[in-house]
Parts: sequence; structure tokens; C-alpha cells
Amino acid sequence: MMKTNPVSTFTWIPLTVQDEDEDLVPVISAEKEFFYDEDGNEWIDGISSWWTVIHGHRHPKITQAIETQLKSLDHIILAGHVHRPAEMLSKKLLELADNDFEKVFYSDNGSNAVEIALKLAIQYYKNQIIETTEETQNSSNGVPSRESFLIFSSSYHGDSIGSMNVSGLTYFNRIFANLRFPTFETPAPNCFQCRFGKTPDICKTECLDSLEKEILKKKYAGVVIEPLVFGAAGMIFYDRKVLEKIRTLCEKTNTLLILDEVFTGMGRLGKNFAYQLAGVKPDLLAIAKGLTGGSLPLAATLVSKKIYSRFQTKDPFRSFFHAHTMTGNAVSCAAGIASVDLLLSEKDLVPSLQTKLQILMEELQKRLGGKLKNPRVLGAIAAFDWPEEIAEDEYLNPVGKEIRNQLKKNFVLLRPLGRTIYITPPYTISPVSLEKIFHALYDVLSNLGRRSE
Ligand SMILES: *Cc1c(COP(=O)(O)O)cnc(C)c1O
Repeated sequence: MMKTNPVSTFTWIPLTVQDEDEDLVPVISAEKEFFYDEDGNEWIDGISSWWTVIHGHRHPKITQAIETQLKSLDHIILAGHVHRPAEMLSKKLLELADNDFEKVFYSDNGSNAVEIALKLAIQYYKNQIIETTEETQNSSNGVPSRESFLIFSSSYHGDSIGSMNVSGLTYFNRIFANLRFPTFETPAPNCFQCRFGKTPDICKTECLDSLEKEILKKKYAGVVIEPLVFGAAGMIFYDRKVLEKIRTLCEKTNTLLILDEVFTGMGRLGKNFAYQLAGVKPDLLAIAKGLTGGSLPLAATLVSKKIYSRFQTKDPFRSFFHAHTMTGNAVSCAAGIASVDLLLSEKDLVPSLQTKLQILMEELQKRLGGKLKNPRVLGAIAAFDWPEEIAEDEYLNPVGKEIRNQLKKNFVLLRPLGRTIYITPPYTISPVSLEKIFHALYDVLSNLGRRSE
């Protein structure tokens, strides 16, 4: 057991109610799917440390790439300069994406990668207006044409103001509701709890009816969506049909499709990117979390040929003036290259992990007498909802925190989203560790179930 009960003195711990008692785990090292605390306890990282450490902690190939890179170049301003790690990673990402992408724009976190996509989308249309004389005002809402986005209620795109404003209005961003720029928010698809009582085989994408009406009525810059899985909003899965329909509507109305694969990208669903699983082509793509295998901050926005061509100009007014100081950091890029190479050389990991997760999930459901709601597995994601009818805001549902704290006693790190419990392990996790996670879950949930009866 833990001897110490450390709290932080100087560091503001994020996503934490500051005056609530919470024992922080003082971590000193990590390797593979494990991390170790000051008391020498071995923990299992069941969520890849916020979905980043896809190849396990401190993968030797990534560590090696970072060490090697540091011997020659640490960082150089990317304006006016270029370097091999940035160029090589861009080339690899474009190959991995296998789409009509032309350029890679770097930043250092997922929120920025999304925000860059938003800005590029808006400017893409502005540049067209400069080129031609398209009317610039939407008559009805007073917002200039194509400056606003169609978004989904159960979506999360980041915590910066721009990315927050294209996320669903939730507990996370309600304080800043007055800062929201105009968007059109549609209730999100959810194929495990369809509002129309349909299953994917008989569905006519009724969940997109309001979006369809709107997109045909007004000119929007883009549709912003997390493909196939709404992650932070509760691991909500939806069918590829929905994406296909959105793509069709986008084409019909000349609206850009912006896919946020900060979570689903880099192999999480079994393909390099979720859109490849869905068979749908995005115009802009945001990548971050697994990009460097969790070793260093790095994000990228992939830009299609169609969009990039509108920025191929000598006119400064039509150029994209956006940069972050650490953009294209050479060490991060070297880590990214190693991470992409690992992804390519370990293609079978996620499909076999998916099979194992399915078996363990079924077993857990059976042992708990079918109590779990919507057990679901896709790629390296397993999730279910705990049947708790508390009218509390979903994320604040206290059962999540209780389950998290109980799991700590088994040295398993999971971080439920309200009553949605999910596992997003490193792709390299061993079968033994996976079984330990499910065993701990059974322990905790069977006790919880007994108490509530
Ligand atoms: C985590 C996440 C983000 C934000 O990424 P940060 O690196 O935390 O800024 C954006 N979109 C999705 C889908 C995410 O899961």
C-alpha cells in the first residue's frame, strides 16, 4: 500500500477540484504499460496516460531517436528554416494518411491542431472571396458567410477558446458559454443508444436530419467531428454511415470536412486513421495524442491539396500567418518518426488487442450478471456504462471517481468519464496486464453492485 499521501504544493493539478482531498500518486519512473510510485508500487497504465503512450512508456526506439537527435539539433525556428526530422515526419505522415493531403502544419497540442484547421477553413473561403466576388454575408444570422461551423453535442476538441467553441456545450466549457462564437450544434449520433430506436442496419441517419436542413440553408465553413468515436464525451461509438452521409452533404454544399483524430488517429481503431476504417476522405485532419508515443508534445494538421492550393500565392494578404514558437521542434519530430515507424512495424497489435478486449469484456459482463450497459469494443478501446440513474451532470457523476479510487487500491489507473468506464491501453500491453485490469474491475464493480442492491 501507499505510505505517503502527497498533495501538490506548487503545482496546479489540472481537472481537479482543488480543495477536495485527493491523494496524488507520486510517480518516479515508467516502462512499457507500467509506472512506479515512490513506494516502489507497480501500476498499470490502463489509459496510456491520456491516450498518448500508444507503444508503452519509454519505448527503446523512441528514446533512442530522441537521444540521437539531441546530439545534432535540438530546436531551430521553423520560419526561414527547415530540417530533416520535420521533412521526414511530414513525408511519413502523408504516406500514413494516404489521402489527398499535400502539407503538414505542425503545432504542439491537439487543441491547436484543431484550431489551425478552423482558421485554415475560414481563410480558405476568404481567399476565394478575394479571388472572386462571392457575396460575403449570410442574410439571416449576420455572420459573414462561411465563418461558422457545424458541430456535435457530444464532442470534445480541446480547451483553448477556439477548440472549446466547436466542442459540444458541456460541463467543461459552460462557464465560457458567452464567449462562444456562432456554430450550429446537432445532437451527436450514438449508435449504442440511438434516439430514434434504430440499429445501424436499418438506420437512415435520422440523427443528421437537422444538420442536413441547416447545411442546405446556410453556408458553413466546415463540419467538425471526431470520426467513429466521440472520446472525451464518453467513448460514444457511431456507425460509418453517419460519416458517409456527412461527407456527401459536405460535397453537395462545398463545405469542408474537418476530422479531429487527435484520439482516434495513430492506429487506435486498428487502421492508421479512423477515416480509413470508415472509407471517408477529410479535407483537414488534426493529429496529436499518440503522435510521439507520448514522449514529447507534438501535433499536426494535415491539409488537402484543394485547400493548400488557395494559399499558393505571392500575396501576403492571402497567406496563413500562424505559428507557435516550438513549431516543428526537431526532437519532437524525431520522436514522431520513431512512433510512426513503430506503428507501421506493429500492424497486428491493435487487431489482436481488440480480440482480447472483446473476450475480457464478455467475461466481465457475464460475471457481473449482465449488469453493464452498452459494453463496446473498437480497436484498442473498450468501454461500458455503469447503470446508475443519477440526474447529475454526466461527467460529475460521482460513481466514476469512486471507481477510479477503488481501482487505485489495485494499482490500476483508469479514469472513468462519469459513469462511462473505459480502457485505452498501450497497444503493446501484455495479456497478463490486461487480465489484471479486468480482474480489478470485477473486484470493484461487484462490490459496488452489492452495495447498491
Ligand atoms: C485530447 C483531445 C483534444 C485536445 O488535445 P490537447 O493536446 O489536450 O490539446 C482534441 N480533440 C480530441 C478528439 C481529443 O481527444
